[in-house]
Amino acid sequence: MAAQATVGSPFVSPPAAFDELRIRLAEVSDVQHASGLLFWDQRTKMPPAGSEGRAEQVATLGRIAHERFVDAAVGRLLEELRPYEDSLPRESFEASLIRVARRDWEKATCVPPSLTAEMRRAGALGFRAWSEARAASDFSPLAPHLERNLELKHRYVACFPPAEETYDILLDDYEPGMKTAEVRAVFDELKRELIPLVRAAGLPEPTPLLELPRDGQERFARRVLDRLGFDERSWRLDETAHPFMSSPGSGDVRLTTRWEPGLNWLFGAIHEFGHGVYEHDIDPALARTPLGGGVSLGLHESQSRTWENLVGRSRPFWRFFYPQLQDAFPEHFGGLSEDDFGRMTNRVEPSLIRVDADEVTYNLHIILRFELEQELIDGRLEIAELPGAWNERFEEYLGIPVTSDREGVLQDMHWGGGAFGYFSTYSLGNVMSVQIWERMLVDLPELDEQFARGEFAPLRAWYGEHLYRHGRKFTPQETLELACGSTLDAGPYVRYLQAKYAAG
Ligand code: ZN
Repeated sequence: MAAQATVGSPFVSPPAAFDELRIRLAEVSDVQHASGLLFWDQRTKMPPAGSEGRAEQVATLGRIAHERFVDAAVGRLLEELRPYEDSLPRESFEASLIRVARRDWEKATCVPPSLTAEMRRAGALGFRAWSEARAASDFSPLAPHLERNLELKHRYVACFPPAEETYDILLDDYEPGMKTAEVRAVFDELKRELIPLVRAAGLPEPTPLLELPRDGQERFARRVLDRLGFDERSWRLDETAHPFMSSPGSGDVRLTTRWEPGLNWLFGAIHEFGHGVYEHDIDPALARTPLGGGVSLGLHESQSRTWENLVGRSRPFWRFFYPQLQDAFPEHFGGLSEDDFGRMTNRVEPSLIRVDADEVTYNLHIILRFELEQELIDGRLEIAELPGAWNERFEEYLGIPVTSDREGVLQDMHWGGGAFGYFSTYSLGNVMSVQIWERMLVDLPELDEQFARGEFAPLRAWYGEHLYRHGRKFTPQETLELACGSTLDAGPYVRYLQAKYAAG
């Protein structure tokens, strides 16, 4: 019985093959996390001239992790463990580990390691080209990298059995099990409901962006994060050009933000906190296994959007923090009422940059990208036509013209870095965030009072119990159902936006 003391099920003690599988998977996880640390470093600390060397390192680690994982010995162990898996409850750690590892293994063995390495190298070089193209607002140096990334994606897609739509195979890497047609149905509903909301909001008078001192921004952001649950023993906050969260190991969560005019330095930091708290609160017993991460990008984004919007833009949240904000920046907020501040941080205003967009227009930014990347993949749109197509459709959906590629097609790193199929997960996250939030409110009716007192631990504990702790044990669809009791449904999100923005 001793062999199963930590996380075992009480039914059968694990055979030696299970321990061997765990050791092999832990090594793969270590290599992947080391690669994640290089990614974090590239985007926060590394001088620009390091990018070629870094591209080689990332490609090498990616190849090693891939080769170790697809090793025939792993396949043999997974086969050998079938009877053991069948003897266990499905939700047990052991059965989940074997099931998820087998699914990952079957997918990974379709792709030759040399192609994985080529995609990683091309992505790292494309990322650098994107940074330079964006700085110069010149699409042309990025174009050949996009061509290369797309060509590699087609080789990647060809590794798998044909799908209903080519895009399904790319989407599956970010939102396993989701089909393009399901996303399209949800997005069509969002488009139908949100374009009128945006039109109704009209174009408000542009207000000059607040210029808050950088030191004050950082002090205040840290104060808010501390209250939400940031703890210096396992969390960091650093500056970057394009904010993200990285967790290069258990007990190591790294947030980034960008100190800048306006308030997005704060909402961005809270957004990344939402990603971080998901990773941090996964059951520690799942660390160094394929189960020890967020289950899909959509569910991950549901948490960043929960903390950023449903928590961080709520009135009860600011009932607690607004006096502190006024204290921190008396010149800027001393004469502004809490109500006016609430309206300012929640107004609907079509703008050019996705990461600065409000809750309503944000989804239109995503739908635009979702449509364009499908057209690129299907060959209906040439790379050279991309900036023009972007500008035209952007104006159609958001009602404002795009004035430069820097503020248009060059604003995001995803395509340059080789990520096609990723964007839709942002809006899927918005949709799921409200589905789960509605379910949580049933259990935590005192939430507003708790926020107003600066208490966020009950909320975090609820999400930990119902979502975070599961990691990748279940499929994204099963995980969503465990958290909220239903499957993907745009209805709650649309009603939430309509109610919030009708109230003004
Ligand atoms: Zn995010």
